[in-house]
This record gives sequence, structure tokens and C-alpha cells, in this order.
Amino acid sequence: MQFLFHKKQIICTDISDFFDTGKKIQVFVARLDQLHPIVSGNKIFKLWYYLQECNQHNKKALLTFGGAYSNHLVATAYACKTYGIAATGIVRGEEPGQLSPTLLACKEYGMNLIFMSRQAYKEIATQENTLGLLEEYNDPIIVPEGGYGKKGAMGASLITDLLAQKNATHICTAVGTATTLAGLSLSAHQNTKTIGIPVLKNLNDIPDRLFFLTGKTNHPNIKLFSNYHEGGYAKHTKKLIQFMNRFYTETHIPTDFVYTGKLMYAITDLIHKNYFKNGSKIICLQTGGLQGNMGLPADTLIF
Ligand SMILES: *Cc1c(COP(=O)(O)O)cnc(C)c1O
Repeated sequence: MQFLFHKKQIICTDISDFFDTGKKIQVFVARLDQLHPIVSGNKIFKLWYYLQECNQHNKKALLTFGGAYSNHLVATAYACKTYGIAATGIVRGEEPGQLSPTLLACKEYGMNLIFMSRQAYKEIATQENTLGLLEEYNDPIIVPEGGYGKKGAMGASLITDLLAQKNATHICTAVGTATTLAGLSLSAHQNTKTIGIPVLKNLNDIPDRLFFLTGKTNHPNIKLFSNYHEGGYAKHTKKLIQFMNRFYTETHIPTDFVYTGKLMYAITDLIHKNYFKNGSKIICLQTGGLQGNMGLPADTLIF
């Protein structure tokens, strides 16, 4: 089974000039968003060992979960199409009159969409063994929402390999389920700090999540900054949108308002507040998810 792209081709764009701090700080953006036109970002990494599991057990079906704008759902749909695996997506909420662009894309890639009430969804979406669903959909491999499982974290740790020669002092990522954060910390060099910016409000259970994902209770190299969620998951402020537009104008790098916009806003703020020492070499992950911007009114972003 071959990866969907050559993992070595990751581009790191130097954006140090954007910050104009007068300090010796280097900042790069690792363009995971450019790895593949559809399954870009961190999602293909998190899916990788689940896809391998389908392959090894000769299973031809996979089932997962997501909301109407889920980057994970569309990446899964496309990856399954590529590898000849039948994909079922359980979608949070009743079927709307008009499907979101994300769900239309999922359908186009052949994903079977099942709509479920928010209550029923909540009960099953984070379970790895959702028994009732197994037989009904060809005994699938079940991928928890957002790839939130040990295999997801193992897959995310592959991202570190791409960045190893860069010798970063800090690798920074937006945090949703914390699977990417866990994976990065698993494989990070001992001198590299992993910085996480939660994009949800009151995401207080990250230590529990990290334990579930890695089996470790102690994560001395992880640092979290929890005040950059801008109101909560998929919420945004005018300030955030203005920042994303300015960031694009000056660096030519697009961000999304759910994850990477908040990440870059946070890192910019931390740099201006002198969190990083002279000599820091910071890599921020552009984890993709740009299709999520289609949920915004058309004239919000300049890109
Ligand atoms: C899903 C996603 C994340 C969050 O990753 P987790 O592993 O769930 O923490 C970050 N950035 C983008 C663009 C995403 O789509």
C-alpha cells in the first residue's frame, strides 16, 4: 500500500520577516496543506494505520464520523476511494435540505452518508467498537471521529519524520482531538518542544486524551496555550478574520478559520509577547482544512 504522496516533498516556507521582532527567531510554516489537493494536512497521516488495518485484515469497509464541514470525513472518503475501500460516514445531525460542499464532496467520492441525531451521534462517535454498526455495514474497520485513537496518533507521528532535518526548537499545531499533538510529541526530538493551541473552549481534558493516545501520563515537552479559541470550536471573531487576511497578504499562505488561523494568530501573539527566546526555530504546521472556509460568507476572506 503506497502513501498518497511522496512524504519527503514537504515545503517549509520561511515567514520570519512577517514578525519583524528584531530578535533572532526563525519561523517556518510546514505546508502539509500542499501535500495533496484533497486529503491534505494532518488527516491522511491520522488515517494511515487504519487504512493499513483494512489492508492487512483484508477488510473492504471502513466507517467513521464527522460533522457537515468535517475535514476528516472528506479526507476519509477520498482515501477510501483511492484504496478501493467502501466508506460509510455517520454525519452529526439530521439530513439538511441542502448538503454542505464538504458532504457533497464526500458523496462524490462514493461515501455512504448516514445522518444521525446529535444525541445518538454523541453516544457512538468516539467509540472504537460500535457494535451495532459492525454487521450492518460489512463489518468495517471503525475510525473514531477525527481519527482519535492510538493508531491515529501513530500516524500523526509520521509528520515529525518529515521535519526532522529542520532541527526545530518548537513544533506548533492547532489542537482539536489532540491526536496530532500526541503523535508529534511521541516522535519529537528531546530538545524540541511541542506547542498546542486548542481551538475549542474549555478543552480541559487534554492530559486524559494524551494518556489515552500515548499511554503516558507525563509530557514535559508539551506546552499548551488555551486562550486562543476565539469563542470556541468553529467560532470566529472579526479580529481573527482580519489577521488571516493580513497573514495571507504578507506571506501568501492561506489559513482556515477553525484551526490554522487560530494557530498562526496565537504564535504571532506569543512572539510579540516575547515567549520565544533568541535562537528559537519555530515550525508551525499548516494542517490543511482549507475546504472548511466554504462555510463562511463569500466575501469574508480575500483568498
Ligand atoms: C482536524 C484538524 C486539526 C486538529 O487535529 P487533531 O489531531 O484532531 O487535534 C488541525 N488542523 C486542521 C486543519 C484540521 O483539519
